[in-house]
Amino acid sequence: MPPQKKYCRFCDSALPKDVIALNKKILDIEVKDGIYRCLTCMAEYLECSEEDLVDKIEEFKAEGCKLFS
Ligand SMILES: [Zn+2]
Repeated sequence: MPPQKKYCRFCDSALPKDVIALNKKILDIEVKDGIYRCLTCMAEYLECSEEDLVDKIEEFKAEGCKLFS
Protein backbone atom coordinates (compact mmCIF):
# COMPACT_ATOMS: atom_id res chain seq x y z
CA MET A 1 0.00 0.00 0.00
CA PRO A 2 1.52 3.35 -0.97
CA PRO A 3 1.91 5.84 1.87
CA GLN A 4 -1.16 8.02 2.17
CA LYS A 5 -0.64 11.64 1.28
CA LYS A 6 -1.29 13.94 4.21
CA TYR A 7 -2.47 17.50 4.17
CA CYS A 8 -2.55 20.18 6.79
CA ARG A 9 -5.97 20.17 8.44
CA PHE A 10 -5.97 23.94 8.62
CA CYS A 11 -4.55 25.22 5.34
CA ASP A 12 -4.52 22.15 3.06
CA SER A 13 -0.80 22.26 2.23
CA ALA A 14 0.67 18.91 1.26
CA LEU A 15 3.01 17.71 3.99
CA PRO A 16 6.53 16.41 3.35
CA LYS A 17 7.35 13.23 5.25
CA ASP A 18 9.58 14.96 7.80
CA VAL A 19 6.68 17.20 8.77
CA ILE A 20 4.36 14.20 9.06
CA ALA A 21 6.95 12.54 11.31
CA LEU A 22 7.19 15.69 13.43
CA ASN A 23 3.41 15.70 13.87
CA LYS A 24 3.60 12.09 15.06
CA LYS A 25 6.49 12.87 17.34
CA ILE A 26 5.16 15.93 19.14
CA LEU A 27 1.41 16.01 18.47
CA ASP A 28 0.66 12.33 18.69
CA ILE A 29 -2.75 12.73 20.35
CA GLU A 30 -3.97 14.97 17.55
CA VAL A 31 -2.50 12.69 14.89
CA LYS A 32 -4.58 9.86 16.33
CA ASP A 33 -7.63 11.98 15.54
CA GLY A 34 -6.34 12.45 12.00
CA ILE A 35 -5.24 16.03 12.57
CA TYR A 36 -1.96 17.00 10.92
CA ARG A 37 -0.43 20.43 10.71
CA CYS A 38 2.05 22.02 8.33
CA LEU A 39 5.04 23.80 9.87
CA THR A 40 3.31 27.17 9.66
CA CYS A 41 0.16 26.02 11.44
CA MET A 42 2.17 23.96 13.94
CA ALA A 43 4.37 26.93 14.80
CA GLU A 44 1.27 29.04 15.39
CA TYR A 45 -0.32 26.32 17.52
CA LEU A 46 2.81 25.75 19.60
CA GLU A 47 3.66 29.46 19.72
CA CYS A 48 7.15 28.97 18.37
CA SER A 49 8.82 29.75 15.05
CA GLU A 50 8.99 27.54 11.98
CA GLU A 51 12.78 27.61 12.34
CA ASP A 52 12.41 26.07 15.81
CA LEU A 53 10.43 23.23 14.27
CA VAL A 54 12.97 22.68 11.50
CA ASP A 55 15.64 22.55 14.23
CA LYS A 56 13.51 19.97 16.08
CA ILE A 57 13.30 17.80 12.97
CA GLU A 58 17.10 17.92 12.67
CA GLU A 59 17.44 17.09 16.38
CA PHE A 60 15.17 14.07 16.15
CA LYS A 61 17.01 12.88 13.03
CA ALA A 62 20.33 13.26 14.83
CA GLU A 63 18.94 11.21 17.73
CA GLY A 64 18.13 8.49 15.21
CA CYS A 65 14.38 8.66 15.80
CA LYS A 66 12.90 5.97 13.60
CA LEU A 67 9.91 8.11 12.59
CA PHE A 68 12.34 10.23 10.57
CA SER A 69 14.19 7.47 8.78
ZN1 LIG B 1 -1.17 24.57 7.63
